[in-house]
Amino acid sequence: MSDTTTGHTDDPLIAELRAACEGEVTAGMPIAELTTLKVGGPARAHVEAMRDEDLAAVGRACREHGLPWLVVGRGSNLLVADAGWQGLAISLGRGFRGYEVDGDLVTAGAAEPLPSLAVKLANEGLSGFAWAAAVPGSLGGGVRMNAGAHGSEMADHLVSAELFRLSSGVRETWPVDHLGLRYRHSDLPSDAVVVAATLRLAPGDTDAVRDEISEIKQWRRDHQPINEPNCGSVFTNPEGDSAGRLVEAVGGKELTVGGARVSDLHANFIITTPGATAADVRALIRTLRQRVADEFGIDLRPEVQMVGDFDDAPPGAEG
Ligand SMILES: Cc1cc2nc3c(=O)[nH]c(=O)nc-3n(C[C@H](O)[C@H](O)[C@H](O)COP(=O)(O)OP(=O)(O)OC[C@H]3O[C@@H](n4cnc5c(N)ncnc54)[C@H](O)[C@@H]3O)c2cc1C
Repeated sequence: MSDTTTGHTDDPLIAELRAACEGEVTAGMPIAELTTLKVGGPARAHVEAMRDEDLAAVGRACREHGLPWLVVGRGSNLLVADAGWQGLAISLGRGFRGYEVDGDLVTAGAAEPLPSLAVKLANEGLSGFAWAAAVPGSLGGGVRMNAGAHGSEMADHLVSAELFRLSSGVRETWPVDHLGLRYRHSDLPSDAVVVAATLRLAPGDTDAVRDEISEIKQWRRDHQPINEPNCGSVFTNPEGDSAGRLVEAVGGKELTVGGARVSDLHANFIITTPGATAADVRALIRTLRQRVADEFGIDLRPEVQMVGDFDDAPPGAEG
């Protein structure tokens, strides 16, 4: 029924999407390729949306065929089940890139990768966004997660977000105070695709901001396993403590499940090796949580977004 390229398919859903979308439609897309953890099964189909009409077509197809959707940014905070995703996965293509500067306001497409956006804004003589050079997500994923690092977070700069609503096919502008941004969390509706965001930054010296970016990148190289497949912090930090410290204290760094292991460099990072499965990562997360709960009475909350059906739990049970 499903080939893995844009070639022939006898799946009417795929034919319908290809007729409606300018962006590429791939049947049976392995989502592992779209994530930094490099594990997880295929989506029924993946659409790389180039324009609002592509998103509208995905929303319509999901409604008509009773399918769930999954928005994938840079996949840097996603653990997709080995069984894959039975619905449509959507990424934003180059039609959702680019930025405009108007004084201290920047409006950028949600597909912009945060690290390159941080450099571009430094070159524009704007400061305050250097931290984003260390977060390998997209602007849209960064808004959804209220990404942050080195003492700053998205909520510090965000003025408003442009949301495309998959259920209605309408674009809406939401001011930041409607987004419910808090530590690595937002209250964005589940059908909202962030397609653009407006940030307020401060004037700054380009060389000074570039130096700041270099220092931040060096700090990351020294302290985090950035060259191995991972999803960043697996757990959010509990109030007044550090998830990495807790995981290390329960012997986490010695733990391996199948092809998944805790990083030697930072105990809040799980690394996957070739042959690892999403179930390995999930089992390691559960073991670490259990050990920390037994030892410290603290329930670590996963920061990584787990999607799809895992054998050990009903959908959406973790988190
Ligand atoms: C090495 C490494 C270091 C990291 N360091 C940090 C850090 O310092 N601070 C930090 O906060 N995070 C960090 N992360 C995690 C991750 O980069 C952030 O959570 C980032 O914001 C995720 O963006 P993404 O585009 O990759 O989103 P994805 O991982 O693709 O998706 C994450 C969630 O956002 C949703 N989403 C994605 N795009 C959109 C969109 N356009 N509209 C609506 N919803 C969307 C997805 O459906 C999913 O629920 C790190 C990850 C790695 C691999």
